Amino acid sequence: MSTPEGPRLVLVRGDITEQDVDAVVNAANSSLLGGGGVDGAIHRRGGPEILAECRRLRASHYGKGLPVGRAVATTAGRLPARYVIHTVGPRWSETEDRSELLASCYRESLKVAEQLQVRSVAFPAISTGVYRWPLGDGARIAVETVRGAPPGGVREVRFVVFDEGARAAFAEYLG
Ligand code: ADP
Repeated sequence: MSTPEGPRLVLVRGDITEQDVDAVVNAANSSLLGGGGVDGAIHRRGGPEILAECRRLRASHYGKGLPVGRAVATTAGRLPARYVIHTVGPRWSETEDRSELLASCYRESLKVAEQLQVRSVAFPAISTGVYRWPLGDGARIAVETVRGAPPGGVREVRFVVFDEGARAAFAEYLG
């Protein structure tokens, strides 16, 4: 019997909203009502349908907000993808190790992707923008967590980064 293979890991420098994949992951905040960075771009390009579904999810399940490290899916509206998987990254802390919460974002997003039965998922570098997580460490956690996830139906995980610094950080761990 052959060992089940994990997904192919791909690194792309570009805009997450333009990715032709089944699901894109949003670096959301816990309100689910939009924000800056990736979140702002996804809502801007994806249109109002995404926000409408986020509002419904808030009302039905997440009145206190989506907890850090968790993930939930909505439509992708007008984006090329079929779904947006919203996950809330931890803010970087000088005094507290929140690595497990950041790993949880990648793990839980992949679990949601498996539930949706999708084959390709694009991740941004969660928490490395407004939440100030150091890029090198954020890239290491992203790559190690995705590599460590149980194999399923997802065949491609695409890390989509905005600039050269982030590209180099991911390239170091992707080898
Ligand atoms: P967080 O609040 O989790 O830190 P941000 O959206 O502020 O999330 O940033 C996460 C990372 O995504 C940063 O490295 C930022 O440079 C990058 N980024 C911002 N906009 C985009 C985009 N449209 N596509 C891909 N990456 C983006």
